[in-house]
Amino acid sequence: MSSLVIVGGGPRATGVLLALAAALRDRPTRLDIHVIDPYPVGGGRIWRANQDRLLWMNSTAAEITVYAPADLSATAAAPATAADNVNDSPPAGPVPVTGPDLASWIRTVTDRDTGRDTFIPRRDLSAYLSDAVERARAVLDGVPGVRMTVHQATATQLRTRTTPDGEGRRDVVLDDGSVLGADVVLLAQGHLDVESPAAGPGHQPPGFTADTDWSTLPAGEDVLVRGMGLAFIDLMMLVTEGRGGRFLTPAGSPPGTVPVYVPSGEEPVLWVGSGRGVPYRSKLTEGPLPVHLRYLPAASRFAGADGTVDGRTLGILLEADLAVAWYSALEEHHPGRTALHRDTLHRLVDAAVESGRSPTGDLEETVRRLVPDPADQFRPRLLDSPLTGQVFAGRADLEDTVAGIVRDNLTRATGRDHRQDGALYGAFVAAYMTLLSLAADGLVSDADRHSFLGDSVASSFSYTCSGPPPQRLANLLALHDAGIVRFLGPGVTVTAGTGGPLYTSRCG
Ligand SMILES: Cc1cc2nc3c(=O)[nH]c(=O)nc-3n(C[C@H](O)[C@H](O)[C@H](O)COP(=O)(O)OP(=O)(O)OC[C@H]3O[C@@H](n4cnc5c(N)ncnc54)[C@H](O)[C@@H]3O)c2cc1C
Repeated sequence: MSSLVIVGGGPRATGVLLALAAALRDRPTRLDIHVIDPYPVGGGRIWRANQDRLLWMNSTAAEITVYAPADLSATAAAPATAADNVNDSPPAGPVPVTGPDLASWIRTVTDRDTGRDTFIPRRDLSAYLSDAVERARAVLDGVPGVRMTVHQATATQLRTRTTPDGEGRRDVVLDDGSVLGADVVLLAQGHLDVESPAAGPGHQPPGFTADTDWSTLPAGEDVLVRGMGLAFIDLMMLVTEGRGGRFLTPAGSPPGTVPVYVPSGEEPVLWVGSGRGVPYRSKLTEGPLPVHLRYLPAASRFAGADGTVDGRTLGILLEADLAVAWYSALEEHHPGRTALHRDTLHRLVDAAVESGRSPTGDLEETVRRLVPDPADQFRPRLLDSPLTGQVFAGRADLEDTVAGIVRDNLTRATGRDHRQDGALYGAFVAAYMTLLSLAADGLVSDADRHSFLGDSVASSFSYTCSGPPPQRLANLLALHDAGIVRFLGPGVTVTAGTGGPLYTSRCG
């Protein structure tokens, strides 16, 4: 009997179980599958049912599915040790375990229509993912010799040992004292907790918003917050609406309307800053546009003697793909605002790429003439870091500028006048996936994998494509208007001072 131990029971493990079910459904085998998670398998920690309804997902209900398409032609392989061990008959092509996307599932099962483009609470995904696990289990239970066991526990140790016949074997130790022997161990643990050095009283270290005790933030107290990503948005909602405050939006208001916040009096004052000093860019009401990349997929032709493409060249190819996606969408969707036509665009960007120059640098002069509105121009550095180089007359000026950037982003994200933003989003997702597969194929050096891909591209990608739903940016602006969220600016660092924590900001 072979044994597969999966540590972690979130969406990744769920996908693996569905793939195993597809691979093994007509293939008797002897396999023990163990799934370990202290949280319910399916949703796991992030998508569990017992969390606040104010914690939303940042993907729409229709964008979420855990199932492979019915016409899957790729082969989902069973683990080698399991596949090798029993019968000699060739495996049938896997028939995927199919199922609905989240929006369809909610409509069918709960008779509730959330709307396909709605951002819904994270806890509403829990039952959908549990159902997927049960679909996988139903198939696996029907395969002779296959057994699936769930352990509600935490894996505390992974040990390797050599058996008397010289075979390598692993043991997974659980916090309930049991030890599971494994031929294959799959670590599907998602985001791990980090240990952060104690920083004195009043400091709340990084952690999962849903698992943190926010009663440590008293009403009316000034709180310094470092980081303006999704964890901040979650925190902001928990200590405002979660404490009885209300956001009022007049009926019939258009999308992107900033509500009026009515405080409960229980809110702290959140002074927030980050590296960029602005929150991540909003998700788009109209969604991303599908984009066919022109440059990055052919990156291998720039490989050097060591077989890798250097980070600088990859950066140029990335910029080229984003620029072409942007201006092509502008021409297609808003032709009256550009005279930069596709042929000229391709010619200029091709030339820049071949000469190893920045495409946006090469395009600058042409764009100034042919795309007159600065809001239609692709300026990657400004898009990525809108406060860079700005000098402020004082705190009020800084705060107004940040609020203005968020307001502008919200207007674009909820309107139809800037479909180039949808193209940028679509191109960046495709480009990021392409870069990851280039790295997997060995075309990116270890150093560039960390500094270029892991740091700078990952950060820009998250900022551009992994932001909050537009309603949450509207909430943020309403709270700023109410004086409950204050902006500190970019380059914020926080240190422990004698009278309490102190912050510095590059321009606040
Ligand atoms: C707060 C938050 C919000 C997010 N929101 C979104 C979103 O809206 N949309 C989106 O697409 N993505 C979102 N993500 C990204 C998210 O990581 C993925 O959607 C998805 O959950 C990843 O699945 P996973 O199975 O790899 O990891 P996870 O979902 O993190 O699951 C890992 C599981 O491993 C378990 N585990 C870890 N260590 C051990 C151990 N030692 N022993 C046993 N079990 C262990 C954990 O309890 C957890 O249940 C969010 C992430 C976070 C942290």
